[in-house]
Amino acid sequence: MGKQPSPLAALPSIDRVLQHAGGLIEAHGRDAVKQAIRDVLDDARAARRVLVLDDVLQGASSLLERDRRPSLRRVFNLTGTVLHTNLGRALLPEAALFAMQDAARQPVNLEYDLNDGARGERDDHVEGLLRRLTGAEAATVVNNHAAAVLLALNSLALRREVPVSRGELIEIGGAFRLPEIMARAGCRLREVGTTNRTHLRDYAEALGPKTGIVFKAHASNYSIEGFTAAVPEAELAALCKARGIPFVVDLGSGTLLDMARFSLPQEPTVQQALGNGADLFTFSGDKLLGGPQAGIIAGRAALVEKLRRNPLKRALRVDKVTLAALAAVLQLYLDPDRLRERLPTLRLLTRPLAELRAMGERLRAPLQRALGCEITLVECESQIGSGAAPSERISSIGLAARPGDQKLAARLRALPIPVIGRLQDGALILDLRCLEDEAGFAGQLHSL
Ligand SMILES: *Cc1c(COP(=O)(O)O)cnc(C)c1O
Repeated sequence: MGKQPSPLAALPSIDRVLQHAGGLIEAHGRDAVKQAIRDVLDDARAARRVLVLDDVLQGASSLLERDRRPSLRRVFNLTGTVLHTNLGRALLPEAALFAMQDAARQPVNLEYDLNDGARGERDDHVEGLLRRLTGAEAATVVNNHAAAVLLALNSLALRREVPVSRGELIEIGGAFRLPEIMARAGCRLREVGTTNRTHLRDYAEALGPKTGIVFKAHASNYSIEGFTAAVPEAELAALCKARGIPFVVDLGSGTLLDMARFSLPQEPTVQQALGNGADLFTFSGDKLLGGPQAGIIAGRAALVEKLRRNPLKRALRVDKVTLAALAAVLQLYLDPDRLRERLPTLRLLTRPLAELRAMGERLRAPLQRALGCEITLVECESQIGSGAAPSERISSIGLAARPGDQKLAARLRALPIPVIGRLQDGALILDLRCLEDEAGFAGQLHSL
């Protein structure tokens, strides 16, 4: 019996497909198209599938489209967590976006003093604003808040002891654990007090010639309740002052404004830390401040100078685009009366419930039709997120899909602009607090 000619021999050659791929080559470039065709043909051979020329073109086109889609994509954050670390935290105000574009597109005086034509300091672009807004003597900025803590510890307490209350030995997610950061910073953690109660005398006994700094971390993302005692910041600051030891405060989210002014859960303000006697304090750029990812450190000029001279500062520095965004956001704080309309983080946190309810009523029926399950308008609870006011909730309005399960959640994630909600008590809740592009949301429901 003679050998049958393999049908696979009939697959078109790469060169032949290329001759018909003008449009694809125009869009993606010859090399990429050739590789995509090769991949489609290899797959067909492996699966012993016969393809005609058009099939190969189709397959190559899909592959190329898939590869072109950026990995980092826009999503709808309907989780109810406004500053969602996994979804990129703060959304930047328009003013920051313009400033970022300018800084990215053209040369800028990043480290160049335009007055005397000499080398300048990159901190100069934000230090004046930070001093004015916080009241601190000096300020510097690094890549994120974790880096700020690392830099402060390493600059001020290398090979020295750092007393920390046992109630503040925190983990903030993403492997940021205070004891480990201390070790990497080259400091010796000296645990003080107990998990639930720490007194001033515990600190007083721990302070000595080996002490580098006293470090206090804000209890973000947890609270200790019941039979508890913590040393008020002002008392601890006074003790440090009497012993000549710098007192450093990690504010967690930190905020420049009293949140009560916006009827929001309260977080310690930067001004409070300073008023309580902190010598140095650190906070995040992209939490409640509503700016780009950054770690801000402010306080006594002599201490900030020590941080600047540490070679680690160079390794942790921010880029020009971040500085441009941060400066633009800080500018907005000079006019607190209009901050709510200009700063997205604050706008989202303070949206009127009536607005959310009206939007929910418009979206309920279209969503029900598209999903084919029961949708109800519900009262739900948003949170600030990123460890700010962790035990407080903000009333919100959501759309609840029932029955809600992982499968339903996956369908919404598969939309062109993925929709991320949260599963709760057998329902998938879409919290409307962070939905501003209603038309964009409604316009893609037909793809469900
Ligand atoms: C969030 C947080 C940090 C880390 O800040 P990043 O901006 O995530 O680097 C450090 N300390 C506390 C108390 C925090 O809440």
